[in-house]
Amino acid sequence: MGAGVHALLVGILLATFAGAAGAAELQLFDAHSHSARGLNLEEVIARMDTPGVKKIVLFARRQGTDEEILELHARHPERVVPAIGFQNPGWLKQLPAFLDEVEAKLKSGRFRWMGELLLRHYGVPELKAADYDISPERGLLKRVLDLSAQYGVPLTIHHEAEPGNVEAFRGALSGNPDALVVWAHWCGRSIPEVARAFLREFPNLSCDLGASDPGRRYGREKNPLIGKTGTLEPGWKAVIEAFPERFLAAIDAVDPGHYAQYAEWVRVLRTALAGLPPDVSRRVASENAERLLARWKGARTTR
Ligand SMILES: [Zn+2]
Repeated sequence: MGAGVHALLVGILLATFAGAAGAAELQLFDAHSHSARGLNLEEVIARMDTPGVKKIVLFARRQGTDEEILELHARHPERVVPAIGFQNPGWLKQLPAFLDEVEAKLKSGRFRWMGELLLRHYGVPELKAADYDISPERGLLKRVLDLSAQYGVPLTIHHEAEPGNVEAFRGALSGNPDALVVWAHWCGRSIPEVARAFLREFPNLSCDLGASDPGRRYGREKNPLIGKTGTLEPGWKAVIEAFPERFLAAIDAVDPGHYAQYAEWVRVLRTALAGLPPDVSRRVASENAERLLARWKGARTTR
């Protein structure tokens, strides 16, 4: 073996170990997972403990309630961020009265996140998740964006980027650029160029990395974040490095079957993030989500 080849192999080995060590010690804040009726929420905490996830944002889904997440938060204040859930008939049927409830909850000061608000969402038969196509131009979205800006509370939105609807989304975001929108699933699984344009245009926009394990299914597969070898796709890696403060680690566990795989999905995400420069991976893994939480403007007794 020539000296050059030997040096190269040693280099690869060192890089591998450095990556592995970096991955293991990355503090992780899961900015997007869910509760549901029948899910033992104490078990969620145990599932976080195994891979060492320090904090989680839980969105109620499938008749899970915001109140049970508040109770979990009361028992684990440093671990659970209480969110106002949007996967319920109030949002999905576009009932204006639902937003009165949301506003009352924000006013109470007990909730620090909102989501997951669905706009364009593909049906996922494996999860019995329906197809939704709520236009970003509907009036209710504008009010939610205004509430996010007014209270300094992040709002996680699921909106599959597609030609046409992405322009409607741009129009909606332009209506209140101060809203703290987190565009779920690496900016709606758009192509990196679209994500780049949105992040440039909207300084308060972030994107989460929820459900990026290569084995996850969306109903329609497109623009993966993580390749089959477990590394970030080069186009996405470049966007994350260009906007290091705008991406949030997330797992998007939905049901007990998902929480059984939680530790493995955390391992996959940590390994992918370890391919970023250390300061960037730390920001994405937890610091960016903490900074978003710090934008909170407090409870309102009067308004
Ligand atoms: Zn989603």
